[in-house]
Amino acid sequence: MSEVNEQRVCIKFCLKLGKNATETYEMIKTAFGDDSLSRSKIFEWFKRFKNGRETTEDDPRSGRPSTSRNDDVVSKICEKVRNDRRLTVRELADEAGISIGSCHEILTENLQMRRVAAKFVPRLLTLEQKENRLTICQDLKNRSIDPNFIKNIVTGDETWVYGYDPETKAQSSQWKTKFSPRPKKARQVRSSVKTMLIVFFDIEGIVHYEFVPHGQTVNQVFYKDVLMRLREKIRKKRPEKWRTETWFLHHDNAPAHSALSIREFLADKKIPVVPHPPYSPDLAPCDFFLFPKLKFALKGQRFQDVEEIKANTAAELKVLTSEQFQRTFEKWQDRWNHCILSGGEYFEGSGREWTRVLIPPDLLSRWVNRSHGEMSFHLTQLMTGHGCFNWFLQRINRYPSVRCSHCGSSDGYGEAVDKAHHTLFRCEAFRRERERLVDTIGPFDPGGLIPRMLESPAHWEAIFDFAREVMTAKESAERDRQFRQGWLRRGVDDDDGDVGGAVYGPPA
Ligand SMILES: [Zn+2]
Repeated sequence: MSEVNEQRVCIKFCLKLGKNATETYEMIKTAFGDDSLSRSKIFEWFKRFKNGRETTEDDPRSGRPSTSRNDDVVSKICEKVRNDRRLTVRELADEAGISIGSCHEILTENLQMRRVAAKFVPRLLTLEQKENRLTICQDLKNRSIDPNFIKNIVTGDETWVYGYDPETKAQSSQWKTKFSPRPKKARQVRSSVKTMLIVFFDIEGIVHYEFVPHGQTVNQVFYKDVLMRLREKIRKKRPEKWRTETWFLHHDNAPAHSALSIREFLADKKIPVVPHPPYSPDLAPCDFFLFPKLKFALKGQRFQDVEEIKANTAAELKVLTSEQFQRTFEKWQDRWNHCILSGGEYFEGSGREWTRVLIPPDLLSRWVNRSHGEMSFHLTQLMTGHGCFNWFLQRINRYPSVRCSHCGSSDGYGEAVDKAHHTLFRCEAFRRERERLVDTIGPFDPGGLIPRMLESPAHWEAIFDFAREVMTAKESAERDRQFRQGWLRRGVDDDDGDVGGAVYGPPA
């Protein structure tokens, strides 16, 4: 019996004993500790049993038969996404005739992919891919010491724009007023009217854009013509770049971009190419800035034909300001730094996510305007997830594994990954400290921690102390490990408690 099922049986048992939902919840908590089902799940199942449900098994999925994840569909999705990494989950689902949920499962589970910026990429990067990302970012960072380098890059890519792109929930909600008619219930399907946009821009703004004629694929022959038109635009719109022959082309590694004929053409015209690592839409300004921005602006509008799409796309490109382009190129440089810092890993959301869980936007002003509460180095580590956690140390190439070296084994949620969350809520090694903390502030979950801290100076102090005790222990364990391996140079003054501040090097 699965662990989840086991707990459901227990819930049923509690009900039969005459316990109420809260008592049941407490008992499950006591019996299963950190592994227990969430409060809402326990209440939900309690209610189901109370209403006469007998089985503790999940209901068979209703609706569409579960044939949507068969091999045929998986390989169909695989082929589609290989051919066009720009497609969204919704587009893929529509084209394959399956639900968005199934399509998402196929992409993430069967194909082990994730979406980064505007494209699909493998979920995990190989060592070689990470090194490639790292090396290229370091190279670009070094070259950007010359301020003219950034100014001279022209970056570009292609994307689909649609006649009708269903609006997001957030957008559609803005349209509803109490007088407007009820929206039609018909399924909103992206229209088949679409056109491909190719666009190039630099730090000042759009340099060239065009729409690919209907039926034309962007192959190397066509792309070469595009590049010739781009050169012409540079001659007209960026005469200085043209005259001094100092501009660089940046594009991703799509087959049409990296074909031999294209490389020969660029060499012949003396146009140097800024390198771009594979599977890195997070490092391409089109993907992390322009395309999402454009699509967000066009979402929910209905265009009758390709001409209308083109006109509206062109209008949206026109309203982009020079400050936006300036900022994009600054952000691009930030992204190189993040990539270097994370050892080549995808960095999107990875660190900020945890802080966002702890401090949701609506708490931010209370946090900023708090009347008590001093931050410390250790508390900051716990709040940002950046510090002496193996998950973080591994990302910056200072520890070989993300596994927790304090409690070692599994924490009931698979392998114990040493992150701030694990340290705060699950790590067995700090059970005693955690119990002391709970004695003072009461039980808490990630979203409830900050409210507790803001409640009273005593609560703040309890968490402050917890952070000090736990992080000090983690740091000293890490220092011991470093000494054992002879990687920490002896004689280095390292009493600031900051592992990151120590000087590392190979054994002398
Ligand atoms: Zn642990």
